[in-house]
Amino acid sequence: MLKSIELVGFKSFGKKTELVFGSRVAGIVGPNGSGKSNVAEGFRFVLGEQSMKSLRSKKGEDLIWGGSPAVPRGNRASVKVTFDNSNKLLDIDFPEVVVERSVFRDGVNEYLINGSQVRLKDVIRLLAGANIGGSGYQIISQGEADRILNASPRERREMIEDALGLKLYQHKKAESERKLDETQENIGRVESLRRELGPHLTFLRKQVEKIEKAKELAEELKHKLADYLAREHAYIGQEGARLKGEESAYRAELARIEEEMRQARAVLVQDTKVADPENDHTRELEETLSALRIERQDAARELGRAEGELAAASRMVKVQTPDKSPIPRQVVLAHVHAAGDSLARALDASSLEEAKTAVQGAQTALGELSARAHDVAAPIDDSAELIEEVRTKVQAATQVLELARGKERELEQRLSRMRADVQERKDAAHEAETGLLHLETNMAQVRGTLANVERMLGEIAGAREAFESEVREGIALVGSDIRQYEHAGIPDGALSEDRRMQHERRRTIERLKIKLEESGAGSGDEVVREFNTTKERDSFLARELGDLSASAEQLKKIIEELDAKIDEDFKRGLVKINDAFGTFFAELFSGGEAKLALEMPEKKVLDDEEGAEETLIEDEAPIAGLTVTVQLPRKKVRGLEVLSGGERALTSIALIFAMSQVNPPPFIILDETDAALDEANSRRYAEIVKALSNRSQLILITHNRATMAAAGELYGVTMGHDGISRLLSVKLEEAERVAK
Ligand code: ATP
Repeated sequence: MLKSIELVGFKSFGKKTELVFGSRVAGIVGPNGSGKSNVAEGFRFVLGEQSMKSLRSKKGEDLIWGGSPAVPRGNRASVKVTFDNSNKLLDIDFPEVVVERSVFRDGVNEYLINGSQVRLKDVIRLLAGANIGGSGYQIISQGEADRILNASPRERREMIEDALGLKLYQHKKAESERKLDETQENIGRVESLRRELGPHLTFLRKQVEKIEKAKELAEELKHKLADYLAREHAYIGQEGARLKGEESAYRAELARIEEEMRQARAVLVQDTKVADPENDHTRELEETLSALRIERQDAARELGRAEGELAAASRMVKVQTPDKSPIPRQVVLAHVHAAGDSLARALDASSLEEAKTAVQGAQTALGELSARAHDVAAPIDDSAELIEEVRTKVQAATQVLELARGKERELEQRLSRMRADVQERKDAAHEAETGLLHLETNMAQVRGTLANVERMLGEIAGAREAFESEVREGIALVGSDIRQYEHAGIPDGALSEDRRMQHERRRTIERLKIKLEESGAGSGDEVVREFNTTKERDSFLARELGDLSASAEQLKKIIEELDAKIDEDFKRGLVKINDAFGTFFAELFSGGEAKLALEMPEKKVLDDEEGAEETLIEDEAPIAGLTVTVQLPRKKVRGLEVLSGGERALTSIALIFAMSQVNPPPFIILDETDAALDEANSRRYAEIVKALSNRSQLILITHNRATMAAAGELYGVTMGHDGISRLLSVKLEEAERVAK
């Protein structure tokens, strides 16, 4: 229930003016231009009207008291309405609700509910809940009575919907649609974000795959390297120790050989000296021998001389002996010659033995001759003596020779022994030389082997160096885990297998390193982190998309439900309105018929320049509008177009009243709606108004006496010389006077 309205600085109400409603029907009367319509506009304003045109203004500033010579202009216009809310008309927990709106010169508006600043939306929602609209049918402005008849079917439908209290649902629907739009926009935004994220995510996923591959490679490398290093470590250790052992063994061997050689050389030097042919002992011996030989030759010469003497003796024998000598001459000569020959042979003998034999031959020859001479009868004394003498000489020479020969033999024996000794020494030296040669060969061999061992030691040192650089590189590549070879046992076969197997492992490791390098995975952790955050972001967006789609679906459902509700309520309400419309119409016209009919809008077409083709205009979804059909009593005419001004006014009044019947608003303001009515119709109008007041509070701005008479209280509006509208409660008679 409307309790009061207060206007401060609003239009012509330059001073604070309050209107308190004490009855169901209030009449506002006053002369033209006094400010009555400004009161109705004050209602529109405070209930949230946004159309300046509906407030007969161009801008907010126009609503503020503009001032007059007597009273200066204001800076704000405020209107305040007070509702009795004891029956919970408004959905707010206060027994009395004050709604206030102010506008300032800069055009800023301010809304208050019970003194608290709120948004326009809050005001509209609060009032809509009580079927109070800011515009529409419940405030019918001056000259606007048949607005509803002039409206398009579509606008008319909106008015009816408003009257049926569907505005609240329309608001809800509009809100849901707005939210749906927002949601769709968000969906689009999130989808585009996801689309943008997609390639990056794919790229990162590939990177991460690469990194994982690289990690696998690194793991494999680590494994292989650890095994390789353990083997290499064991091998180098063992090989190194073995070669070191060999090296010192060979060095000792070499020292031993050298010592042996030194000894052999010493022997050789001594023996060689002894075996020298220039050696003093042999020389001495040889000299003695050669002296002896001279002695023997002297002896031989002595023998030769004796032989010569023997020959001479023989010649003597030949001279002294006559032909008849018992010993023939030839025989003596033969014996002497034989002895001479033998002696000659003895002189030339190369050995003592030979000489001896030759001398013995000579002796024998001479001995035989001597024996024969004895036997014959007539030996020659003097020749026998001679021969005897010679024989003595030969014997002496033979003895000397014999002696020389004995000495020579002894010397020869000594020399031979000495020679044998020298030979023996020579043999020993030779043997020593051979031994030395053998030792030298041996030494060369040992040296060769040692050099080989040292070369291998060099190789091991190289391998150790390579091993250490492998360890350093390995640590840089796959971490210090590979140092585990220090503690690990010796892998199977590490010390016995073919070295080629290690070389093969090394090649495998090199190939792995190259692969790892080629994978170009870079610093993995950062990429993985980025991939995870990007993936999280993507899943977050996916979830958000899911949420948004779900809420879009929900909103669509809400909208559908609201549409259904609006549609149903509308159809049901329309039936009721039509009933009331028909009744009021018949009442006002004393018969006849009127009704609203749903009608789909005709397709709007645009003719193109040739007019040959028609193009359908794609507008919003077509909605069935409402058309009004009337049938006046006792008249054949049916169309709205042919109605008189008064008939139009009556028809619209019938429709407005019908609308207010179905879903009665708490109050209705009618600004000179009755202006065109004749006396009879004014009376009918007044009757209907009384009937309506049972359901809605009525504020009637009128010049009409019948209407005034129907009001429970009357207010007169006057405007003084200062241009300010004033209100005062008046009696019917006064009102009638003022109205005139
Ligand atoms: P009628 O009976 O002829 O319809 P009315 O009583 O309805 O007249 P209104 O239209 O309410 O009169 O008042 C119009 C008056 O209000 C005019 O005199 C106009 O000058 C005055 N008015 C309108 N706006 C302002 C304003 N901002 N400041 C001062 N006066 C204003």
